[in-house]
Amino acid sequence: MEKLMRAPSRYVQDKDVILKMKEHTTMFGDSFYIIASKTAMKVTRPKIEKSFEGTDVKLVFETFNGESSMNEINRIRDLVKENGSNVIVGVGGGKTIDTAKAVAHFEKIPIVVIPTVAATDAPCTALSVVYTDEGKFSEYLFYPTNPEVVIVDTKVIANAPSRFLVDGMGDALGTFFEARACLRSNSPNLVFGGITQAGFALAKLCYETLLEFGYEALLAVEKKTVTPAVEKVVEATTYLSGVGAENGGVAAAHSIYNGFTVLEECENTSHGRLVAFGTLVQLILEGSPTEEIEDVIDFCLSIGLPITLEEIGIKEIDEQKIMKAAKAACDEGESIHYILGGVTPDQLFDAIIAADNLGKHYKELI
Ligand SMILES: [Zn+2]
Repeated sequence: MEKLMRAPSRYVQDKDVILKMKEHTTMFGDSFYIIASKTAMKVTRPKIEKSFEGTDVKLVFETFNGESSMNEINRIRDLVKENGSNVIVGVGGGKTIDTAKAVAHFEKIPIVVIPTVAATDAPCTALSVVYTDEGKFSEYLFYPTNPEVVIVDTKVIANAPSRFLVDGMGDALGTFFEARACLRSNSPNLVFGGITQAGFALAKLCYETLLEFGYEALLAVEKKTVTPAVEKVVEATTYLSGVGAENGGVAAAHSIYNGFTVLEECENTSHGRLVAFGTLVQLILEGSPTEEIEDVIDFCLSIGLPITLEEIGIKEIDEQKIMKAAKAACDEGESIHYILGGVTPDQLFDAIIAADNLGKHYKELI
């Protein structure tokens, strides 16, 4: 398998960097169609307009309807065509960004991504998750290119509720361990290639950054401040986690996330929190050394990521339900099978129960 590495063409991150949007984007076009969620619009529109002040660049703003569905993608495509726009800009969380990426792909125009929360890998990756209009998972769309420009304004990110940063750190926690599992079994990454040293180095740096600066960054963001620790952790959750996962591959933690989404108890638990618990389960499945498991547990405890079933919404352990999740996580085509030697639902069930008990034990210690 040939090794393959892909990434956004340009990634720019700083406090108030949206004010420099013009200099990072006008090489791609002169007519921008900007979609943003309501909150994202309020926070970023004045900065975007200010950046283009005194230029001939045409800006059209449109509020995103809230769902990354085929209907919404087609609605925005029509508006882009009507306005003759030659660049699409997606501003907001994962769903707005995923919709903008789909529009860019189908209309064959460049995309600029401006995330307003640090909760997701959507900004840097070359795929979208598409839902039905009712919000049920529908399909993944994979694209041949990554976004042209990603603009991360850390002041905007630090002003969002801090739970989004915790969600982002949960998702980022799995990146290194999943990449390592793919490397061990010589499995493909998310762009269907072998893992480069560069891709793996990003995944490793992602984990190291979280351990070193995660807690400090969270405390800073709770006070809506931007410090060097915040800059490092936002880069970890947005770039290192996204590009690291795309080029390093996913393994058990993300399949365990998929498995738990079939249980209604977990409906209100974020992707990142489920991936964090899934990471703990993966380490147990792999028979990882105690010190490594303890590092992950200590980190989760420090920033409030779940290490027990109760914390992901499962108050009472019903063995049948856990088995249902385990079976779903082990479906054909799931990345959990990239764990060296494969994983059966029985093995996963045991690892989930063992992880929960270990988590409970550590919680009693504090
Ligand atoms: Zn993820």
